[in-house]
Amino acid sequence: MDDLAASLPDFVYSHGAMQNFHAYGDRKDYPHLSDEQWQNINWDTFQDCFTCDRRQRCGQTLSREHYRHSGDLIICSHDYYMEHVWTYEGRKREGQLPLLPEHSAVIFDEGHLLESAAMKALSYKMKHVVFEELILRLLQGEIRESLAVLIDESIVQSERMFKALGKHSRAIEGSDRKEIILSEGLLREVHRFRDVLTAIEEELVFEGELYSLNDYQLRIVEEHIEMMQKALMLFERSEALICWVTDSPEGLTLSIMPRTVKEVLQERVFGANIPIVFSSATLSVEGSFRYVADSLGIEKFLSFSVVSPYDYAEQMEALAPRWNIAEGFAGKMKEAIKLLQRSEGRALILFKSKDELMQFKERISEESEVAGMTFYFEGDQEISYLISAFQRDEASVLCAVSLWEGLDVPGSSLSNVIIWSMPFPPHDPVFIAKRSEAETPFEEVDLPYMLLRFRQGIGRLIRTREDKGIVAILGEEMQSDASVLTHVLSVLPEGVTLQQNA
Ligand code: SF4
Repeated sequence: MDDLAASLPDFVYSHGAMQNFHAYGDRKDYPHLSDEQWQNINWDTFQDCFTCDRRQRCGQTLSREHYRHSGDLIICSHDYYMEHVWTYEGRKREGQLPLLPEHSAVIFDEGHLLESAAMKALSYKMKHVVFEELILRLLQGEIRESLAVLIDESIVQSERMFKALGKHSRAIEGSDRKEIILSEGLLREVHRFRDVLTAIEEELVFEGELYSLNDYQLRIVEEHIEMMQKALMLFERSEALICWVTDSPEGLTLSIMPRTVKEVLQERVFGANIPIVFSSATLSVEGSFRYVADSLGIEKFLSFSVVSPYDYAEQMEALAPRWNIAEGFAGKMKEAIKLLQRSEGRALILFKSKDELMQFKERISEESEVAGMTFYFEGDQEISYLISAFQRDEASVLCAVSLWEGLDVPGSSLSNVIIWSMPFPPHDPVFIAKRSEAETPFEEVDLPYMLLRFRQGIGRLIRTREDKGIVAILGEEMQSDASVLTHVLSVLPEGVTLQQNA
């Protein structure tokens, strides 16, 4: 961390004027950092940049400014685009520039992911330490005693509320989102916190008239409290929402997400009267685009499909080896090692959760048969750096959780895709909510999600007409659940047959 701080440009620490500032601080500039280390130094949406005195020298601000001047084409993530959409009005109100410049068309590549990005961006997030830092700013001015007392009370009550959230939440396997168990006790703490916030809001109206507080600070605090009030009010009526908490070293974060984003997308994105193009190899289900259009609330659209240029029957070999399920993890590991030996590395192993990947990482180092192979693990370094290393080092193996889609490595470096587990969704609050709305949750939620991800995963293998290789499916369900096997067979590319005893 100290080395990194020392490597920042000099202007970050100096206070002089009239200097040349340049963009720095992109994740790619620090490829050797693990995801965990990056989390500690990365920009966090909770940071209050509006009142930060480092603002004009900060890597986050300068990088955004740098990309704003890009020519005709700007490439950003769905998350960033949605963040731009939802913060557009607010930023303009506060005298800030919107995150993205005006544009005349949008292409959503991997368009089937837009709904979840929109839900994520529309979520409210709260943290005790952030609230405390924010509300204490009011003490910097001359304030009346009654307000000072309320500020103290609100800090105590915020602490109590987050304590209650910690007590009434439970961890979920395969997800870092903890489920919140609603109870009268918890709702009572939330309600008490809201009451104190309301009292503070009333006091702030008087304070505003006395002009003893910095006007800008006052507005920021008022905006935050208003946002928190809105979120907590929704939390109390949580049937229309999906809520969860996540752990971090500075305490719990409460997230409150809407169940559906159709109306808001309609108003702010599709109503913009500009061409919007969705593209993806997995946008249609049996030739129809209705499923994705309905989930996004799109009524009118034009669509077309392009036939794959690849001869899958020739280029792809699909295997579902019968390994001994009774042996559990060790049995699966034995089979994976055989597969890795067969392609002499050159493999991508796809896991459905970080826990699975960590378990594999721990055990593979003890396996002498693959002692000479180089393994790259997602999270150890910046992802595009890992992908380039995997591509350059032909016989290496890349182990990942998030590369079921978007990975494009043509050539023999990727000749073997191993599906470690069937990519069913986790039992986290988002999917619990989706299932609760379905008549047949497995068929309507779990299966389509798994099949979509599976199709994306096997799609990593053949990227050019010259590519050849194997796809090996190690998921237990391939042996234990005949319906899963049938569905998997139905989504294999045309001409590809599944060898089950290889
Ligand atoms: S502007 Fe300030 S608070 Fe915001 S990321 Fe930069 S240094 Fe942090």
